[in-house]
Amino acid sequence: MKHNKHDRPIAAATDAARRSACPGLLRVVAARDGGLCRIRLPGGVLASTEAHAVAEAARAHASGVIELTNRANVQLRGVRAGHERALGEALLRAGLGPDTPAPASGDDESASTHAEIADDLRNLMLSPLAGSDPGALFDTTTLTAPILHLLQHEARFAALSPKFALLADGGERLAALDHPHDIWLAAATHGERLMFMFGLAGGPGDAALGAIEPQDVPTLLRALLHAFLDLAEAGQRRMRDVRASHGSEAVLLQAQRYLNFTPTRDEAVRQWRRTPVDTAARLGTHALRADGSGYVGAQPALGRLDAATLDALASLAQSHGAATLRITPWQGVLLPGVASHQLAPTLTQLSALGLITECAAPLARLIACAGSEGCAKSRADTKADALRLAARLRQNAPAEAHLSGCERSCAAAHRAAWTLLAVAPDCYDLYARDEAAAGFGRLVAPHLTIDAAADVLSPRPRSIPNA
Ligand code: SF4
Repeated sequence: MKHNKHDRPIAAATDAARRSACPGLLRVVAARDGGLCRIRLPGGVLASTEAHAVAEAARAHASGVIELTNRANVQLRGVRAGHERALGEALLRAGLGPDTPAPASGDDESASTHAEIADDLRNLMLSPLAGSDPGALFDTTTLTAPILHLLQHEARFAALSPKFALLADGGERLAALDHPHDIWLAAATHGERLMFMFGLAGGPGDAALGAIEPQDVPTLLRALLHAFLDLAEAGQRRMRDVRASHGSEAVLLQAQRYLNFTPTRDEAVRQWRRTPVDTAARLGTHALRADGSGYVGAQPALGRLDAATLDALASLAQSHGAATLRITPWQGVLLPGVASHQLAPTLTQLSALGLITECAAPLARLIACAGSEGCAKSRADTKADALRLAARLRQNAPAEAHLSGCERSCAAAHRAAWTLLAVAPDCYDLYARDEAAAGFGRLVAPHLTIDAAADVLSPRPRSIPNA
């Protein structure tokens, strides 16, 4: 294999940075509450049979606590020491691992290295309605296999960070537009044609860099990945780093060396804006088709559920839906393919399982990282504090708030309207989203208790003095 000065061979991906970067199916990372195992779900798709397997693995090898992540993945907490290998094997048997290319040599270490890297190269996000929204412009589920094949079968891409993330948006009525991705694509009408807009280090809420024909998606992605690796300097692991150093135009110019076509960059591309979405549609019942069939959405409090609940969800999807769960970037779940007469009963059952099914509930708008129970870096018990905060917030309080145990912001890929950054136990700095300010936004109130934060986020109506 030939390497230029920027090209790192596959062995480079086994370095300490990769191992400590983030958990994977075959790389259980130590946390305060035990091992952490992340199961990447390209497109957020989890078949009922796979969900049962995850629940069983969580019981047999971990604490039983299952988390839905903001990248529409699933992770198991509290993996027991000595169970890592058995857990990985159980998940691979269930079909939840990568479609690994054959290692160059037949030894065990090489095989496990390849499998670990292939598992990392599966960060593809789709709308949770991909393939089931008849109003979408393009069925992006058809892109999953070619994109994963591209990522996993070109040796040079093993040098990509395990966090390097791609988005393919089909124009569905539900999508997370504010989550940043290293490379994003979005189906759009361009005159009479269907095209894919694309951009770097952002999402379809941003202006597009160019547009291509749908059949050119894998070729463009390949070119942009090579351009990223060509331009990345030491320590630059994400597209935002390269864009900050070189600018988007330089990345596209470099990518052009790998293309035999030129992306469209006309006025229509410059003017394009993604149709806004109402993220409230992630919860409740929604008809999609003329026969009234559709989907039901819900979310577990703070993205966590236990194995029994996941089993129940999987069974419900089997009996009432398309035998598939779609994990959402709002740490929730959709059941697609539900017949019209089953929509309301399915919602009732989800509610009976303890899931949140309506946006008015304060917990529908709160997210929190693992906190001090699960993470040594946390300065407060964010999960418990979020529950206390929810109990103090009024129904329909407008605030979407994120409780973060430290500056790393594991629970939020985007910038929340409000962020409570832990300073000490039951002590938080409150930030308001502000495009003019870096990080979490503008500091509006330092050192608040949870009770004080509730008063700011959800002020009680003033009492009307007696006349
Ligand atoms: S945000 Fe900080 S405290 Fe919270 S889980 Fe991540 S690293 Fe730990």
